[in-house]
Amino acid sequence: MSPLLALIAIAATPPPMYEHTAEIMTTRLVVKIALASEADRPRAEAAVAAAKEELLRLDALLSEWKPDSPLGRLNEAPTKRVRLPKEALELLQRTLQWSARTGGAFDPTFASLWGLWRFSAEDAARIPTPKEAKARAALIDYTKVIIEGDEVHLGAPGMKLGLGGIAKGYAVDRVVALLRERGFANFFIKLGGELYLAGTRSDRPWVAGVQDPRDARASFAVLALKDSAFTTSGDYERYLIKDGVRYHHIIDPSTGYPARGARSVTIVAQRAEDADALSTSVFVMGPDKGMALVESLPGVEAIMVTGDGRVLLSSGLEGKVQLRPLAPHSGP
Ligand code: ADP
Ligand code: MG
Repeated sequence: MSPLLALIAIAATPPPMYEHTAEIMTTRLVVKIALASEADRPRAEAAVAAAKEELLRLDALLSEWKPDSPLGRLNEAPTKRVRLPKEALELLQRTLQWSARTGGAFDPTFASLWGLWRFSAEDAARIPTPKEAKARAALIDYTKVIIEGDEVHLGAPGMKLGLGGIAKGYAVDRVVALLRERGFANFFIKLGGELYLAGTRSDRPWVAGVQDPRDARASFAVLALKDSAFTTSGDYERYLIKDGVRYHHIIDPSTGYPARGARSVTIVAQRAEDADALSTSVFVMGPDKGMALVESLPGVEAIMVTGDGRVLLSSGLEGKVQLRPLAPHSGP
């Protein structure tokens, strides 16, 4: 090879990337770390192994369904006081702040609906009657989460508490901190629907796409992101269609039924914890109240596909998002 050709070959070689995929916290983890050089690969591998240990620790700490977890014990006997480890207690307190800021659209006692809805055929799909949904929804009330010192109990028998709407986001933030502590500045993390994009992928920025809610193969919005969390909540993740109506897993606590104002909500924020809580919150709040909340929060942006198929961008994203029309769609 001539010296010139060799030079071109070097220039065209993509910078080295460490990539790892695993099933963890009952979801899929993808990590990509842009390496300064090949010599960094073993350090990246060790960092991701440590990140997976951290995710297992958080799963045991924050899961609401494991009977031996603190929240599992609370849900077994909700009116009895249970001591929560400091980290879980602090996440619960931040969760309740979101409940207050969203007027209860985001509510960790949403878990009181356990078993009411089942969206998949394997689980024997189940749609409650409106009467049944209303009775169970009456148990959802974040103001009845009573914290005294480091102990928690719930105000009524039958209530349950779950941090599933925020825990994955928090877990991503912990992994981000771990990778940064180990000297990495350019990486991509995806845990289920929670993304974090740090720095660049060396030769170009990280880009994130938002799926067309009615066409899984197409993304209708693409944007470049740096040091940002990015989360989408959609009515296409877990749902069933019956008699021409789509029933999905993002529930309006005031009715016990799926929220109708949106098809998907994507949030860009500094922290994945906030993006996770807000994507669900803004979905439940719908276009007017939801987008007003986003505009009131510094450093938070949103892309919404409304229930009637319109695309809304928050003011800070104008001109920063490449948009394509949504696929034509009729039906639920
Ligand atoms: P995920 O984070 O699981 O990918 P979403 O961000 O779309 O999904 O959030 C939906 C999940 O949040 C539901 O599966 C449920 O566990 C929980 N959830 C649903 N509705 C609410 C609500 N109103 N408040 C708090 N959590 C909720
Ligand atoms: Mg969420």
